[in-house]
Amino acid sequence: MYSIIRKRKLAEDTYLMEIEAPRIAKSALPGQFVIVKTTERGERIPLTIVDYDRDKCITLIFKAIGLSTREMASMGEGDSFKDVVGPLGRASNLVSLTDNELADYRVAFVAGGIGIAPVYPQVKWLYEHGNRPDVIAGAKTKSLLFYTDELQKMSDLHVVTDDESYGMKGMVTDCLRNILENGVRYDEIVAVGSMIMMKFVVELAREFSIPCTVSLNSLMVDGTGMCGACRVTIGGKTKFK
Ligand code: NAD
Repeated sequence: MYSIIRKRKLAEDTYLMEIEAPRIAKSALPGQFVIVKTTERGERIPLTIVDYDRDKCITLIFKAIGLSTREMASMGEGDSFKDVVGPLGRASNLVSLTDNELADYRVAFVAGGIGIAPVYPQVKWLYEHGNRPDVIAGAKTKSLLFYTDELQKMSDLHVVTDDESYGMKGMVTDCLRNILENGVRYDEIVAVGSMIMMKFVVELAREFSIPCTVSLNSLMVDGTGMCGACRVTIGGKTKFK
């Protein structure tokens, strides 16, 4: 169980793994995640379910930045995870819209760096339901970008890099501002990336009176809301990630 069927390096320090997990794959929806453990005493690592093959496996994408994710990156095809729990969390609100509602629903996704991974399943869902969203994907430099070909097929993709090594020079917010100042309007903007990036996307969305959904990635322990570690205060109310 939970063996790695396929492993691929997507970008600098960024890996894709397909993991045998048919029970999770059967019911996973865009926006949901799993918690993986490489060993019995390993750290619990929450990761978005990026894709799924219903009877077989789930796809995860992660960046090797800390001890546990580096340990994960050292695993290869045929190796197995000790544990994979999921699907956890609520699915994206977008999956509750009917095909009729989706037909003229205009969404812009704003993805920063590894934030491209959580955006991808939502874009794929919309595309498969007759919608073609805009996607603004940004990274410091070209070698950190991934899934641009996949996203290009399913969306109107705008790529930005801080150093102009790919696409337009600038940050994702520069690109979004250009689009909005050219008169394009969205029913919703969805932002996934660092807190500071999401903060500036929210400010821009507010300036243009567009509803904005962000993906808060507060500290997570059990992944169900039971322990309360992921609680955040929004408008004076306590919520769980
Ligand atoms: P990064 O920090 O290099 O940022 C990628 C791009 O985001 C930049 O190129 C830029 O276009 C944009 N950006 C960054 N700071 C900005 C700012 N102040 N204003 C406007 N745009 C800005 O990307 P990384 O190194 O891959 O890190 C990704 C971040 O996303 C990490 O902090 C990670 O924790 C977070 N993350 C969040 C989620 C989530 O669910 N919110 C999921 C995965 C990753």
